[in-house]
Amino acid sequence: MSDIQNFDVVVVGGGPAGSTVGGLLAKAGHQVLILERERFPRYHIGESLVTGMTPLMEELGLVEELDRRFQHKSGISLRWGQDEQPWRSDFSAAGGTYTHAWHVTRSEFDELMLDNARSLGATVVEEAHVNEVLGADGGTVTGVVYTHGGQRHEIRSRYVVDASGQARTVARKMTETKWQDDLRNVAVWGYFDTYAPIENENDILVEAIEGGGWMWGIPLSKDKLSMGYVLSVEQMTAAARDGVGQRQLFLQGLASSSIAKTMVDADTEVELSTARDWSHLSDAFYGPGWVAVGDAAAFIDPLFSSGVWLGTSGAWLAARALDAALKSPADEEHALQRFDSVYRQLFNDILSYVRFFMDPSRRREEYMQRAQEVTQMYTQSSRVGFIALISGVGAVADLVDFDPMGMDGLREILTERAQKAKARAETAAAAL
Ligand SMILES: Cc1cc2nc3c(=O)[nH]c(=O)nc-3n(C[C@H](O)[C@H](O)[C@H](O)COP(=O)(O)OP(=O)(O)OC[C@H]3O[C@@H](n4cnc5c(N)ncnc54)[C@H](O)[C@@H]3O)c2cc1C
Repeated sequence: MSDIQNFDVVVVGGGPAGSTVGGLLAKAGHQVLILERERFPRYHIGESLVTGMTPLMEELGLVEELDRRFQHKSGISLRWGQDEQPWRSDFSAAGGTYTHAWHVTRSEFDELMLDNARSLGATVVEEAHVNEVLGADGGTVTGVVYTHGGQRHEIRSRYVVDASGQARTVARKMTETKWQDDLRNVAVWGYFDTYAPIENENDILVEAIEGGGWMWGIPLSKDKLSMGYVLSVEQMTAAARDGVGQRQLFLQGLASSSIAKTMVDADTEVELSTARDWSHLSDAFYGPGWVAVGDAAAFIDPLFSSGVWLGTSGAWLAARALDAALKSPADEEHALQRFDSVYRQLFNDILSYVRFFMDPSRRREEYMQRAQEVTQMYTQSSRVGFIALISGVGAVADLVDFDPMGMDGLREILTERAQKAKARAETAAAAL
């Protein structure tokens, strides 16, 4: 036996992407149901945030609460590339008011976001497992079936938003995804409580490891350092063939990392977690009756801590596109197509740059130069370009000003204009 209920939008998953799209659509006056498999607070990896998220956090009214609860993050410190010396980039270098982001305990952050969606008017059901997507066989999604407390419930809705993270509950049925085989990685991580403050103590530390892979160091608080080792599946398989297990591999990485030097007697028995870290990009972010945001739409290696920013940014775009489509069904295709193209551009910029950066044999200036090329609309300076790209600040205007009924290809037109202006300035300078 099951009951049947109707909503404008049902959101599968109450992580940061789901609570953003669900909360904003409820705020806009739509009937929204968020279904979350777990009971919050629940553990999640993905602890370091970037400043590109701040405008959305302002929109959601959460900045003060984030400042109160979480460690400020001032930038990124790197040991990467040919340069002997470590180097760093400060969020404040991108100009503007976004000078810090946060290092968060995700169980707490995600609960805050989900509670906020509730207070904006979304109905939230936890421990609600979506196990069927209605209409998926016929090509138009019309709702979902979920189980809660042993009962089966059926929901009919105009749209189903897939925000189920790597589970890709709807997207896996409705679209293909392109797995990025050169970014087929595994992450192993743990938490350490005895470490000395790192040089720039509010930065995330990102370090290339000799022999392959990279490590993160995220100071969650004065006595909790999150440390992870990201390495390729091939590297891990080869190590396993030589009898080297995950723990040993992690400890080897730790031993050769400079972050480890800040630790007082790193606990070799530390509890370790592991996750697949395989970048992918869905062929479509929407289709008849459905939309995908966050990791359900695409996932990129966490080298620049971009996951939560990308996920919530897509959710912010999707909320405005779905609001337009719900108010005027004739505008649906235009609005969702605009959402797809702006969102896809964010992923493509980060993906191509992560791919370029993963080669640790370049010089710092080369990394900076390439970042500036990607963000050239925003800045002429490679140093500013680097932090603008990896913090998401370079895309803030696209996000804040997003108009689902706007013009297609606006970004391309503006980029072309900026390129022409740059070429003219260079020609003029050369002629002097
Ligand atoms: C090793 C690693 C390190 C990372 N580090 C960072 C970092 O430092 N900074 C950063 O920004 N990002 C990082 N990320 C990425 C980040 O974790 C994700 O991008 C982010 O959590 C995506 O948010 P989301 O809301 O899309 O999905 P999620 O946060 O995964 O939320 C999805 C939710 O859907 C629920 N769900 C799933 N299936 C169902 C179902 N059938 N029914 C109901 N509910 C369901 C799940 O329980 C979950 O709560 C990292 C990722 C990895 C793998």
